[in-house]
Amino acid sequence: MTKWAYRFGDGSAEGGADMRNLLGGKGAGLAEMSNLGLPVPPGFTITTEACSYFYSHGKSYPSDLREQVERALGSLEHSVGAQFGDPDNPLLLSVRSGARVSMPGMMDTVLNLGLNDRVVEGLTRKSGDERFAYDSYRRFIQMYAQVVLGIENHFEELLENHKLDNGILLDTDLSAEDWRTIVTGFKDLVAQELGRPFPEDPQEQLWGAIGAVFGSWMNPRAVTYRRLHDIPADWGTAVNVQAMVFGNMGPDCATGVAFTRNPSTGTNEFYGEYLVNAQGEDVVAGIRTPQHLTIAGKEESKSDLPAMEEVMPEVLSELHRVRRRLEDHYRDMQDIEFTVQRGKLWMLQTRSGKRTAQAALKIAVSLVAEGLISREEAVGRIEPASLDQLLHPTLDPTAKTAVLAQGLPASPGAASGKVVFSAEEAESLAARGEAVILVRNETSPDDIHGMNAAKGILTTRGGMTSHAAVVARGMGRPCVAGAGDLRVDYATRTMTARNVVVAAGEVITIDGSSGEVMTGAVPTIQPELSGDFGTLMGWADAIRGMRVRANAETPTDVRMARGLGAEGIGLSRTEHMFFQADRIGAMRRVIMAEDETGRRLGLAELLPIQREDFAEIFRIMRGFPVTIRLLDPPLHEFLPKTEDEFAEMARLTGRDTEAIRHRAVVLHEVNPMLGHRGCRLGITYPEIYEMQAAAIFEAAALVTRETGASVAPEIMVPLIATRKEFDILKAIIDRVGREVMEREGVTVPYLVGTMIELPRAALRAGQIAQTAEFFSFGTNDLTQTVFGLSRDDAAAFVGAYQRLGIFEHDPFVTLDTDGVGEMIHIAVERGRRTRPDLKLGICGEHGGDPASIRFCQAVGLDYVSCSPYRVPIARLAAAQAALAGGEQDPTP
Ligand code: ADP
Ligand code: MG
Ligand code: MG
Repeated sequence: MTKWAYRFGDGSAEGGADMRNLLGGKGAGLAEMSNLGLPVPPGFTITTEACSYFYSHGKSYPSDLREQVERALGSLEHSVGAQFGDPDNPLLLSVRSGARVSMPGMMDTVLNLGLNDRVVEGLTRKSGDERFAYDSYRRFIQMYAQVVLGIENHFEELLENHKLDNGILLDTDLSAEDWRTIVTGFKDLVAQELGRPFPEDPQEQLWGAIGAVFGSWMNPRAVTYRRLHDIPADWGTAVNVQAMVFGNMGPDCATGVAFTRNPSTGTNEFYGEYLVNAQGEDVVAGIRTPQHLTIAGKEESKSDLPAMEEVMPEVLSELHRVRRRLEDHYRDMQDIEFTVQRGKLWMLQTRSGKRTAQAALKIAVSLVAEGLISREEAVGRIEPASLDQLLHPTLDPTAKTAVLAQGLPASPGAASGKVVFSAEEAESLAARGEAVILVRNETSPDDIHGMNAAKGILTTRGGMTSHAAVVARGMGRPCVAGAGDLRVDYATRTMTARNVVVAAGEVITIDGSSGEVMTGAVPTIQPELSGDFGTLMGWADAIRGMRVRANAETPTDVRMARGLGAEGIGLSRTEHMFFQADRIGAMRRVIMAEDETGRRLGLAELLPIQREDFAEIFRIMRGFPVTIRLLDPPLHEFLPKTEDEFAEMARLTGRDTEAIRHRAVVLHEVNPMLGHRGCRLGITYPEIYEMQAAAIFEAAALVTRETGASVAPEIMVPLIATRKEFDILKAIIDRVGREVMEREGVTVPYLVGTMIELPRAALRAGQIAQTAEFFSFGTNDLTQTVFGLSRDDAAAFVGAYQRLGIFEHDPFVTLDTDGVGEMIHIAVERGRRTRPDLKLGICGEHGGDPASIRFCQAVGLDYVSCSPYRVPIARLAAAQAALAGGEQDPTP
């Protein structure tokens, strides 16, 4: 026989904290508090399994559910000493939903269930308080009508009108007679809307409420919430049926909510609010101003309403004891709900409290100091992604905002600045010290210098993995992508949304954490990296096995990465250096050259610039490995696109516009991602890679001489498919290396390795590892090539694929461990079989994604590399992956 109902209360329970899946979070918490001997009104929980049954059997109940509920209700009546539906000695119930994880706003609670016209008279007699009885009755009708009968809320209007007509301001000033009149009004309203009277039969009320809780699991709000939070539909919700306790019986009654520590700062202080003579959610409903629990809290918020510490000091000291008990037991900050009935405290809920990232750090570190949890547990408790909140400036939460448009939260942080519509404008205004927001329909590699100069980036098209989003995250620039309601008109240099026109030069604010675009400058606050951050990251570093490097090339980014704890550079994209204003000209001369001699002339101009770039990276990353990738993108990315730019380039290179246009046509590719790029450039234009190798070795020699410490570059060849390609290019690099070392008289220990970003390279890893000394998995391209899915075009349908469950996650955000992962697994295995000390890393966007990092640990990579701002996230995620051990089996 399946047990569908679990009892709790009176110092014991049939369930407990470990039965959260069956009893839901609320039910498990009520059972656990009962077991701890805390005062919990007795009741029972109908399991989530009953909910699953309900949905798999055409919305019908298990045949023995009624009987089990009746029995549980019987024992509840016995322990309270009152009868459900008995006018002489009535028991009232609350019916509350509660899934495994809290789903706020999914379904409301029904309180005071069991009241009708006869029972309310009984309640009056029993309590000796008619006002209280009718106050409870009107609450019940209103809640039941809204939650169970689905009637729109016109109840408040009716109540307000009654108060206006009778010159009454506060609910608390309404008399029993007033409430009586209002109850009649409420019932008429229900009868009108429903076409039949309000249900008087308590049993009908109870089953109506149970059915509504189960039904709410599939309401559109709940379905959407689950989709957004990755909650499976088959979990179901539990139903908690509990004896009512009353906070609305007079001045010695109250209801309240509290956190056992401050949820925004994490400070170890009791933080909560209460209301005298109130019930349910009055405290959070905003009808009356809630009062503070403690005098300290009251003073801090400059409230002049009395604290519970002053009004009900004994109750507060009992709450303090409960607080300590719960924290000691759960070993975490709790979010609690309670009610005081005639001076007696009743606990109604406890759960682990939601908190800001800052508070999470402080609480975890304090709990270790208090001896409640271990360092490992502390490290395990911080959500790695939440560290983002700490690293970027955020909007001042007290500021007033005017939202102009909504896009995707593509790169976190907030930024304000003048609107510009081109990368050039961004750069020139920024050069004059102006803060600018670059607004484009979409961005291209051409815009990188402008993106770098801007404080933030806003696009109207493209998704979370669009060029703008990826580059912005890499640069740590706030970015809102795909703000579709926004129309940009480059010709008039304006953008329009919701009938508001914003011209170039006007100030806007974007919030890359929420996706909001606002007019004007909204003040931001720079988060402090507190001592707790350093302490916890130190613990994480001691636990993790994998190293964490950064993808960075500009001195600013490299320095930032180092500051955030990067242990080297895993990917330095040399092409980003070519896009900067002082070099794009030389680069374009290289591309325009008709022959090798011409190309070498341009390259000779680039050599000293690259050398200094590399030297600067080596200086900042002294003592840590630096991986430099040779030129990767197709050459036409460096060519101008518009007629104006053609003319400008003609002027710069001394060629005619026609020749430039012609070159652009020649270099045009139908499918550039699979075209003339990566090592294919090095094979056809070896002088380019020669120059880059020379710049690397010369820079290493220079910094070695400067510092006396040896610099060990790792030179990385992109887009290898065959060992032959690699061998040809490695021979060039080795030769250049020998020449430079001889000339400079300095030994540079270096490695030459390859990216693994094509399926063929993964499959042939055993052969490639015979000469390649390290592999770095470029999982952006590898995902693209394993799926045959263009990263730049995927946004159009990835959403639909996710909705249909074809993709569980966007594979460009979270590594597809089944397919792409298997490819990596094969490459790791075959590569290491050939070369046991083969160095292995990952440098795709996934290197900063916690779920992907778990996979990297399981498959045995030596390091992950990610954008600078994600370095702390990766450090923490790598520690958590190490704690999880080999839990995830990488083999398919
Ligand atoms: P939520 O999940 O929205 O917090 P709850 O089921 O906790 O919903 O109910 C909301 C509020 O209703 C509680 O905080 C409490 O004030 C009140 N409540 C719930 N059960 C009871 C009860 N048995 N007696 C008195 N008040 C209750
Ligand atoms: Mg609620
Ligand atoms: Mg609650």
